[in-house]
Amino acid sequence: MLVNPARIHRLNAAPHVPGPILYWMSRDQRTADNWGLLHARELAGRDHPLVVCFCLVPDYPGATLRHYDFMLSGLARVEADLAALGIPFILRRGDPGVVIPRLVAELGAGGVVTDFDPLRIKQGWQRAVALALPVALMEVDGHNVVPARQVSPKQEYAARTIRPKIHRLFGEYLEEFPALEPQAAAAPSQPPTDWEALRAGLDVDAAVSPVDLVAGEDAAREALARFVTDRLAVYAERRNDPNAGATSRLSAYFHFGQIAPQRAALAAAASGRGEGQAAFLEELVVRRELSDNFCLHNPHHDTLAGAPVWALKTLDEHRADPRPYCYSREEFEGARTHSPLWNAAQNEMRRTGFMHGYMRMYWAKKILEWSSSPEEAHATALALNDRYQLDGRDPNGHVGVLWSLAGLHDRPWKTRPVFGSVRYMNERGCRRKFDADRYIERWGG
Ligand SMILES: Cc1cc2nc3c(=O)[nH]c(=O)nc-3n(C[C@H](O)[C@H](O)[C@H](O)COP(=O)(O)OP(=O)(O)OC[C@H]3O[C@@H](n4cnc5c(N)ncnc54)[C@H](O)[C@@H]3O)c2cc1C
Repeated sequence: MLVNPARIHRLNAAPHVPGPILYWMSRDQRTADNWGLLHARELAGRDHPLVVCFCLVPDYPGATLRHYDFMLSGLARVEADLAALGIPFILRRGDPGVVIPRLVAELGAGGVVTDFDPLRIKQGWQRAVALALPVALMEVDGHNVVPARQVSPKQEYAARTIRPKIHRLFGEYLEEFPALEPQAAAAPSQPPTDWEALRAGLDVDAAVSPVDLVAGEDAAREALARFVTDRLAVYAERRNDPNAGATSRLSAYFHFGQIAPQRAALAAAASGRGEGQAAFLEELVVRRELSDNFCLHNPHHDTLAGAPVWALKTLDEHRADPRPYCYSREEFEGARTHSPLWNAAQNEMRRTGFMHGYMRMYWAKKILEWSSSPEEAHATALALNDRYQLDGRDPNGHVGVLWSLAGLHDRPWKTRPVFGSVRYMNERGCRRKFDADRYIERWGG
């Protein structure tokens, strides 16, 4: 078998019958290094065609023109790469629970393969499709090096509890990807997608404009190569300096599946860049896969209720504490706080679709300190994160916000007003770590 069977999970009990195979591409929007696509290709074999479909949901919560623009540019590239292999690509708009079963009926498909995705909304789509299909629906985890369902059957407590589990299985799963074989059977002919018409017909929030990060698999691979050559060696010592530009800036490519995290892990593992290599693999594999673990096993991952009990208790005990400042979501959104450093972070995110990771922690913690309640702070931080970050609406966003505001995967610290025993951060701490004035000057406070 091309794909390790432990990556594959059946989502319904319907049979796989002879016929075309439909790969419902969703989280992993790429042609190369894609375990789901490889599995679908293998199931189709020489006798049946493989067809790839993407279901465009026109009103995905929080998504704006910035996100649709980046995603559609990447998908146009996928269509071209698949065409070169004789594999048809079909883009349909609508609710996956309706679109996918209809397409299966049109094609007479014998089975459907899709991507693993732990987010509640995506799991809901998959459940609807699984229920409606008369044929097998299989999920393949091509987003994690160690498949999320294999790492642990429960929500892990913290990085220190998931780390040994990932490290134990890492060698088994960190394998080179096979190439995707061209189509062997006669495939249904399919007119190419009219990308211009599709873009023109989009009715999405255009107030958040596209950014100049180039989308697609080639651009992602080039970004990875540049990072490994130029910055991985200094990643361990410089990654927490928002002025240094030392991190990979690959998160949007990972979010849209335009490059496999496993490709980045293979490149880092082969780089011989010592400490930088270990520090990068910790973020890329342990921290990122901890986020998938949390969202998979915690049905409240998108609300404050997903936080640990000790943190909810301490935040509640400090609910009535006076706030030094109290801002509305609009004031936060417009970068109109008293703090030039906070405003600069918000500006970086609004303009570029990316905020440095160290600033994300400070940014979210101050939203807690300057909002009227923890619930409002959570809603504001998640909404702004998902609206402006190109990598938003991701398990990492849910976890990052809950880590900052509500102690997820962390432990209690010294008690303070508003925060209770949730870990505190202040501007003085930032100034000890990096040149905050330079950051403010760059982004405007
Ligand atoms: C409040 C808050 C919100 C966040 N929102 C998001 C989000 O919406 N989407 C998102 O992808 N990340 C989010 N993060 C996690 C992290 O900040 C970003 O992944 C990282 O800054 C992206 O930059 P990079 O690709 O240069 O990272 P690098 O430092 O180069 O790391 C490589 C990869 O490892 C993963 N990674 C890095 N840091 C973390 C982390 N702390 N937790 C989990 N995975 C990590 C990412 O996939 C990243 O691309 C958030 C963190 C916080 C504190």
